[in-house]
Amino acid sequence: MPKSKRGGVPGRPLLWEALKHEMRHDLLAFLAADSRWRAEQQTRPLAVEGHFGMPLAGSWPAVTLRLPPGETVQFCGRIDRIDVDATGSRAVVIDYKTGAYDRYRVLQHDPLGGGRFLQLPIYALAARAALPQLQSVEAQLWFVTRRGGLRRQAVALEGVADRLHDVLGRIASGIRQGLFPARPLDCKACPFDRLCPATRQVLWEKKAQDPVLAPYLSLFGLAEAEETPTCSP
Ligand code: SF4
Repeated sequence: MPKSKRGGVPGRPLLWEALKHEMRHDLLAFLAADSRWRAEQQTRPLAVEGHFGMPLAGSWPAVTLRLPPGETVQFCGRIDRIDVDATGSRAVVIDYKTGAYDRYRVLQHDPLGGGRFLQLPIYALAARAALPQLQSVEAQLWFVTRRGGLRRQAVALEGVADRLHDVLGRIASGIRQGLFPARPLDCKACPFDRLCPATRQVLWEKKAQDPVLAPYLSLFGLAEAEETPTCSP
């Protein structure tokens, strides 16, 4: 018996067996769906866990963006997977998700999700910079469990660069001013649900009236209309 299992790390034996069964099912479903998708798309994985901006051998360069007023921000990260077609000129950047789809629904209408989902556009920039032969880059979230329905959510990248700069500029400006508003949104899925004050929704509604938060609030735009807070209190 592995030491971690003897030590009870995976939890109660019956639950661990059920979890293993679920994981096996998800993995088999994922493998079948992946084979089908690669055959349709005529692509193959080029990299998994591809690093950029990390002090590691083989890491791609950091993504560097210049924001007004003359500020530079750099991003590092790890891309779950990049597939390319047979010519090597078309890439698909994939981010795996093991949870449910609902909180990402906003991406159908807003590729940056009101400033909350900047990951894939930045990954796409990292791939473009590291692979100059690319003529097109697509991006998608892939919900790889039954919980997420093995669903894929494409993230539109066309024309997103200007908005990405704008959103990052607002976020950077807020950080410079020390604005870190606690905005309850996905509380039920948040690990801090029991730690945050029960009055958080009331507190947020009061804070949201402060004009100093106007640039932050303007990030949501369309995204705001699509989402309903899921706070328990
Ligand atoms: S519980 Fe809600 S308000 Fe608290 S950190 Fe999580 S998402 Fe934010």
